[in-house]
Amino acid sequence: MVKGRFSRKDKLIKQKRHDVYREREKIQEPALCNKCGALLVNSRWTWKEPPAETYEVTCPACRRKADKYPAGFIEIKGDFFEEHRAQIINLINNVEKQEKTERPLERIMDITDRKNDTLVTTTGVHIARRIGEALSQSYKGDFSFRYADDEKRIRVSWQR
Ligand SMILES: [Zn+2]
Repeated sequence: MVKGRFSRKDKLIKQKRHDVYREREKIQEPALCNKCGALLVNSRWTWKEPPAETYEVTCPACRRKADKYPAGFIEIKGDFFEEHRAQIINLINNVEKQEKTERPLERIMDITDRKNDTLVTTTGVHIARRIGEALSQSYKGDFSFRYADDEKRIRVSWQR
């Protein structure tokens, strides 16, 4: 992004938007997500059993989902992909399962077939990169990724 391109007011709005999804924003603990049941304790989101009394919140991943505001974009295309689509989507879902277990905020948001490719959106940047790496390790092909927004967003592409 070009520095100085935005007015001060725009910058403030932009920062606020980021803060909404910050994983370490100040939330009173223990906090339980009213949508997915993730629990925030000691500044970490977990799948631990919640204590009897918790603060009710909506976790950053569920908020991104509700706002349709992904952190990760994975663009997938190619003849090989089309021919092995079911198997490859299965691999992607398995990566999510693993990631989500360890990092509750890293999830797949949507898998959308578009005219020239398939787009997978995610709630976190880490899982998007992991999916790209898993595709590349399992099936070779062309894999690349690019961070944006201070590494708060990532665009991954894989094709074969
Ligand atoms: Zn949640």
